[in-house]
Amino acid sequence: VRGVSLATSAQSALRRYQATLERKNSDLERANRVQREFLGILSHELRTPLTSVIGYAQVLGDEIIGPLNDKQRAYAETIYTSGLQLMRLIDDLLDLSRLEAGDVALQRRPVAVAELLRAGVAGVGAEARAKGLSVTLQPPPEAALYGDPARLAQVLGALLSNAVKFTPLGGRVWVSAELRESEVVLMVRDDGIGIAPEHHEGVFSPFFLVDASSARQHRGAGLGLALARRIVELHGGRIWVASELGRGSTFYVALPRAPHAPLGATPRALGP
Ligand code: ADP
Repeated sequence: VRGVSLATSAQSALRRYQATLERKNSDLERANRVQREFLGILSHELRTPLTSVIGYAQVLGDEIIGPLNDKQRAYAETIYTSGLQLMRLIDDLLDLSRLEAGDVALQRRPVAVAELLRAGVAGVGAEARAKGLSVTLQPPPEAALYGDPARLAQVLGALLSNAVKFTPLGGRVWVSAELRESEVVLMVRDDGIGIAPEHHEGVFSPFFLVDASSARQHRGAGLGLALARRIVELHGGRIWVASELGRGSTFYVALPRAPHAPLGATPRALGP
């Protein structure tokens, strides 16, 4: 009899537990729905008017509707660049929320390491030249990563643009990659201002700024590395930094390698 009553109370405890779980799941679903709706509002209600602000500032600045004096031209330019900056911030925020909600599907395929690095270096060329920085691409290995090409370019772009931003005039940036057994490690090294050890983890958190005044000068919101970390983790990879204040930083990204099939090869069709 005792055995039977134990079994019954265990069953009713299990039922209560299941009911609690179901309630929690529906709370979670509701929270996720609210977050998605909020993101929808954010993207539409903020982006739409901002698109007009940017568009009309450009029309004014291009003097399409009439000539401007120097002051008016400078104001139009400021409205335009500030609008673009705000748009980038909204897009990054939306992107981060989607990545955190697991609402992003990766389009994974083999991506040639050499091509990825070359495109990344070309992407910061103008900015680097403007600061007199040299950006050296060390001969990359002939290997492929398995990932989403656009997302990987975003990660590399964030690291390279930081290396350029936080390296003083005339400094140096190096980009390279190393093969490990099942992964490729990408490296972006600079001889810039460096990061103190206590911030090596923090720099990957959203809105983290080592120095708010220098960040204002660089117009960053502290989202680039947070986005990079989410993307790398979504690929099953790791991202970390080694850095010394005043001497420079090296950012590392380890990502899974693509299987050995030659790039671009399509699988042989199976005969009947
Ligand atoms: P931001 O948009 O401000 O560049 P990130 O998330 O990319 O945001 O970087 C966060 C902070 O980490 C930066 O504001 C800067 O203080 C620091 N940081 C990132 N990369 C470097 C680097 N290569 N050298 C020195 N500091 C860096």
